[in-house]
Amino acid sequence: MTWSLTLPELDPARCLGSGGCVAVCPTGCLEMAGATVWLPRPADCVGCGACEVVCPAGAIRLPTVTRPAAPAG
Ligand code: SF4
Repeated sequence: MTWSLTLPELDPARCLGSGGCVAVCPTGCLEMAGATVWLPRPADCVGCGACEVVCPAGAIRLPTVTRPAAPAG
């Protein structure tokens, strides 16, 4: 699994208002405001990427970070 160290970037113009991201978020930091998602509790985001995966419209993106491999030996 790849985790993000930054907050999700939300694109209201793409959001279809399905609410799937809100339903899948393990920390409850996303909410719908009418037909658009927003992030009212950014401090609770753990960067899991579940919201990005479930969005059918590409309205949520998380810059991902590749963690360095553990040193050999
Ligand atoms: S990355 Fe995870 S914790 Fe953060 S808003 Fe998306 S689903 Fe919620």
